[in-house]
Amino acid sequence: MTQQTGPGEFEIIRRFFAPLAADMPGAFELTDDAAAVTVPPGHTLVVTSDALVAGVHFLANDTAADVAAKALRVNLSDLASMGADPLAYTLALALTRETNVAWLEAFAASLAEDQRQFGIRLVGGDTVATPGPLTLSICAFGCVRQGTELRRSAARPGDAIFVTGTIGDAALGLIALQKGLAAATAADCDVLVGRYHRPTPRVACGRRLVGLAHAAIDVSDGLLADLGHICETSGVAAVVERERMPLSGAARAVLAAGAGDWPTILTGGDDYELLFTAPPDAEMALAEISAMLDLPITRIGRVVERHPADNPERLVGVVDGQGRMMTMAGSGYRHF
Ligand code: ADP
Ligand code: MG
Repeated sequence: MTQQTGPGEFEIIRRFFAPLAADMPGAFELTDDAAAVTVPPGHTLVVTSDALVAGVHFLANDTAADVAAKALRVNLSDLASMGADPLAYTLALALTRETNVAWLEAFAASLAEDQRQFGIRLVGGDTVATPGPLTLSICAFGCVRQGTELRRSAARPGDAIFVTGTIGDAALGLIALQKGLAAATAADCDVLVGRYHRPTPRVACGRRLVGLAHAAIDVSDGLLADLGHICETSGVAAVVERERMPLSGAARAVLAAGAGDWPTILTGGDDYELLFTAPPDAEMALAEISAMLDLPITRIGRVVERHPADNPERLVGVVDGQGRMMTMAGSGYRHF
């Protein structure tokens, strides 16, 4: 950060980021070389990292507040899918010459708000300048009781498959941003775009799934692709019922108007809901969690045995309202 006219690296850290570390003793107010984070006895540290690049993971004209929220929330969602309790995070920022004080102020204020909401604190990071697009990378730490983290690999034939919240909103929101969704009302568009910009990590739900769910993942690549990841690592297959898919009022309206389609909803990414498997008799306990958190938890299908002849690319079947197997081109977002 040498050639820019705004605040330098140390000024940025002191002014915008040190306040976010204020009530975390091991962060040393961001004045030391590293942080010292204590994990409660009997717990394991769960670590995740996600990077966001302007123009790829967010749109160049997204607000600083939305960018901050998305960066932190996608990491919180990974912690949630492991059943972990958020603890701390680091932030690596590669800023461009265009990054100004107003942007940093809004960025830090948004992080502060989410820190409070989700119970996590900044403990360190790095601040550099880049000639390329603005890039930020967050590494988040959480903890779970030793040996209880939720894994993708724990699904068993006979499990029921559940998903939190509603599916497909973020993918429709992205379409609304990029091409417009003429068939949707302005209010519905706002809801869908909001779901794309500010996913809600299901942290409180994830923690409560420990000891109850078998396998879990968060829906980032798309429902079918992410269920495919569970199937691959668990050595099972899955059948989901399209008619059971939980849709928001906005998504339902868009579908009814013919402006969105089922492939978008089932394969679109960025919802950051929790997708998990559990024994069918867990349904009562899940209904209680759902009521307590005021968060829909919907059973959408079942885990079945995988046969040696199964195509590894097609471990997830979708049946329509008449019980017919649907064919679906592509199964999710791929980065490469
Ligand atoms: P070093 O040269 O040892 O890497 P830095 O000068 O890069 O140290 O950082 C000084 C302190 O500020 C460190 O504690 C580091 O974790 C923290 N820090 C730097 N950038 C950020 C940031 N973007 N967010 C949070 N903490 C940061
Ligand atoms: Mg450094």
